Amino acid sequence: MYSLTLHRAPWIVPVTAPVIADGAIAAGGGKIIDVGPAGELRKKYPDAPVRDHEECALTPSLVNAHIHLELSHLHIPHCRESVNGFTDWIATLLDLRGRHSADDAGVEAAARRIMQQQHGSGVIALGDIGNTDLGLLLSREFPGALLPFREFLGRSVQTRRTVRERLEREPDGRLFTAHAPYSTHPELIQSLKSRARRLGHPFPIHVAEPPSEGDLLSRGSGELYAFLRGRGFLDEAYRPPSGIDNSGSVRYLHSLGVLDRRTVCVHCIHVSPGEIEVLAETGAGVCLCPGSNRYLQVGTAPTDRFLQHGILPALGTDSLASNPELSVWREMRILRENHPGIDPADIFAMATLGGASALGLENSFGSLTPGNSTHFLAVPLKERIRSAPLLYEYLVGGNEQIQPTWAGIQ
Ligand SMILES: [Zn+2]
Repeated sequence: MYSLTLHRAPWIVPVTAPVIADGAIAAGGGKIIDVGPAGELRKKYPDAPVRDHEECALTPSLVNAHIHLELSHLHIPHCRESVNGFTDWIATLLDLRGRHSADDAGVEAAARRIMQQQHGSGVIALGDIGNTDLGLLLSREFPGALLPFREFLGRSVQTRRTVRERLEREPDGRLFTAHAPYSTHPELIQSLKSRARRLGHPFPIHVAEPPSEGDLLSRGSGELYAFLRGRGFLDEAYRPPSGIDNSGSVRYLHSLGVLDRRTVCVHCIHVSPGEIEVLAETGAGVCLCPGSNRYLQVGTAPTDRFLQHGILPALGTDSLASNPELSVWREMRILRENHPGIDPADIFAMATLGGASALGLENSFGSLTPGNSTHFLAVPLKERIRSAPLLYEYLVGGNEQIQPTWAGIQ
């Protein structure tokens, strides 16, 4: 039998229920047992010791649903204040990556440092995308859930065959995904998704990040098309696939049959109102990366429309190659600046529950719900907070200096 502890604080933020003033969490055996007003829980559990978290809010830990740890050594925003379009950024990234080998000790050290910083800032789960096995290595060290997705891309017959053969050899526990509609042959996207579907794995894929992805898919033209042709990444005979609705990235993926509740469309900036309906109907997830989008100047995702359709997006920092700082707190702040009309409670839900749901971890993290893990946070309140709306405002907007502690674990 485990012992129970009551964690009491001036504010409790369950996320799936209204904020509780002067509340408590009963925790034991690594699980949340109960959440409610402090007075009620003291009566209910009179023998449980009380731990007071004075001048703090207890909240779920954060989820960073999209990061590329293996790019942590490529600090492009530190070298260049801005890039001249999306393809200029890809060219810079490919050039810098070519100078480092994947087993370079510096690459691993930079990735590990960022992973530790993420946990130090209150992140319990990471959706990590990589083209090497570095994420798999780091997932064994992370004191939470680091989901290491090995990503594939390419359009050639040879690439498709090589990946297919590899998928047959790999153990079921490995997570695989496709990069993006513009970079990955439709058959390769389908075979990767069909494996993920069979195994019940999440399937994150970059979708509608640059505006020119739509031009490429629908007309076989535009900035991205010219860039990929110039680099030899597209077949001579590339034509928009026939028999597929390619009037937008989401419709294209829907036509390929790869959208369902486990697919996570990362970025989702250039999506039409009709495509948002497709996302809502299929139950596909959305992950927003506002900090990266700001640096790359690729646009702003229609976040309010996602919410209107009942879609709660996840948040991701993307990598240091496209974002000057990797902080989920900062992503919330940027989202708040971009969308002042969105309720701060929704933004905080994105950084917690939205991320946990995108990664299939909502039964452990993302909300203060009985049965979930005790990896919750104590967020120090630097000022006296008088209402729930002001608390949310503080959490998503006034948090430049927020340094939470892991309150629920000893
Ligand atoms: Zn990414």
